[in-house]
Amino acid sequence: MEKLHYVSTRNKKNALSSCEAIVSGISKDGGLFVPTHIPKVNNDFNELCKLSYKDLAFYIMKKFFTDFEDKELQNCINKAYDSKFDFKEIAPISIHNNIGFLELYHGATLAFKDMALSILPHLLTTASKKLSLDKEIVILTATSGDTGKAALAGFQDVDKIKIIVFYPKNGVSEIQKRQMITQNGSNTYVINIEGNFDDAQNGVKEIFNDKKFNELLNENNYTFSSANSINIGRLIPQIVYYFSAYFQMYNKNQINLGEKINVVVPTGNFGNILATYYAKEMGLPVNKLICASNKNNVLFDFINTGVYDKRRKFYVTMSPSMDILVSSNLERLLYHISDENDKLVSEMMNALSKDGIYCITDSMKEKLVDFYGGYASEEKTKIAINELYTNYDYLVDTHTAVAYSVYQDYLKETHDKTKTIIASTASPFKFTRSVLESIKINCTNMNDFELINIMSDKCELTIPKNIKNIETKTITQNLSCTKDSMRQVIKNILNIRG
Ligand SMILES: *Cc1c(COP(=O)(O)O)cnc(C)c1O
Repeated sequence: MEKLHYVSTRNKKNALSSCEAIVSGISKDGGLFVPTHIPKVNNDFNELCKLSYKDLAFYIMKKFFTDFEDKELQNCINKAYDSKFDFKEIAPISIHNNIGFLELYHGATLAFKDMALSILPHLLTTASKKLSLDKEIVILTATSGDTGKAALAGFQDVDKIKIIVFYPKNGVSEIQKRQMITQNGSNTYVINIEGNFDDAQNGVKEIFNDKKFNELLNENNYTFSSANSINIGRLIPQIVYYFSAYFQMYNKNQINLGEKINVVVPTGNFGNILATYYAKEMGLPVNKLICASNKNNVLFDFINTGVYDKRRKFYVTMSPSMDILVSSNLERLLYHISDENDKLVSEMMNALSKDGIYCITDSMKEKLVDFYGGYASEEKTKIAINELYTNYDYLVDTHTAVAYSVYQDYLKETHDKTKTIIASTASPFKFTRSVLESIKINCTNMNDFELINIMSDKCELTIPKNIKNIETKTITQNLSCTKDSMRQVIKNILNIRG
């Protein structure tokens, strides 16, 4: 097979190396980078199941980052998956009610974004060095709460990189906000933007596509890159933990090697579940990919009808990292299920931005058979938290609860006996109020910070080290802006006139 390269979902003519794709973040035509083929895992599972997380990460990522030297990639992996994580498994599996909960939240910021964002800065600096780039990289990111902090933590004080994070005024939790505005580092900037996550994300996308603004930056010796889940350097590291989860299930005598499993993923931007899809395409035995949405159920409708329609009310829910109307990474799935029809993907994406709606073809729809879409209301999310806690003494956050609730619906509907893992995407300590209220603990007159201690006491859980004492940390970030002044804020930060 020819060497793996990266092309845009909207124009597959120009092939880029993985270094170029990582540094660019998004393609100039607005498309996302996708590999020219999805490599297969041919090795014996009997051998792979013995690998450490780091060795497995090397094995998987090496197949995608073909232009990295072994040493370079190993170095990135060693710097990423170290003692920042609380468990040697990095993402341990915990079994409750016969389900494997894949706990992706034991890193620096207590959410699954750490899995990819602890390695992306190292991939980026390595790629930049390999390409002999002399410009300073400016990471521009919109966050629905978790990405921002995880990116800030990952990039803090990394040489020749500045990071600018926009978070929406409406839709991040008090603790998420505090995590961000107490960020240290001489190269970190956190900005509160008027509006919701889609406003922030659209603003960032427009800036990435603004030729003039990019030129202005280049003249001043800067170049933009992205830490959002559209960067291929985030997507690929996420494939690793699905293999790791599978082998942990085997090592815990839950499955036989080769046996299929279901994977349930609480979904927002479609990045995490797309990694499951890539893992399946690589040869991981996956039966159903269960896509769980909250009340913002645009993906549920899409999977069931083939119509993506963003013209709907936006809800702020208690699972804010999934409050999204435009799931960016879905574009990559469209590319793959359309047999790499870049022209068709372009048309659909144009229709989405122009009319707010597109419809996939019948043959594309047929390729969605392995996906199951469901969603959970706010009430059902609370019930899920309460049920898991009361019956199985296991406390989950609101996002994981959405996944659990959708999986219960799936079971009722299908009676499928396939072993299942749920991607557990955040620590309950990140969403204390919603979680405690769900298990009927009175939270009135208490702030979110006091609730951390209440959760620890009542549920007999240790407070994760990275959230301890967050209330008394010094606030270091205080910038804010409107949708229309994002460019000006960036110019001010970079000291650019004109
Ligand atoms: C980002 C996030 C999600 C959604 O993941 P996507 O890759 O955007 O689909 C779910 N849960 C939590 C806690 C998150 O931070």
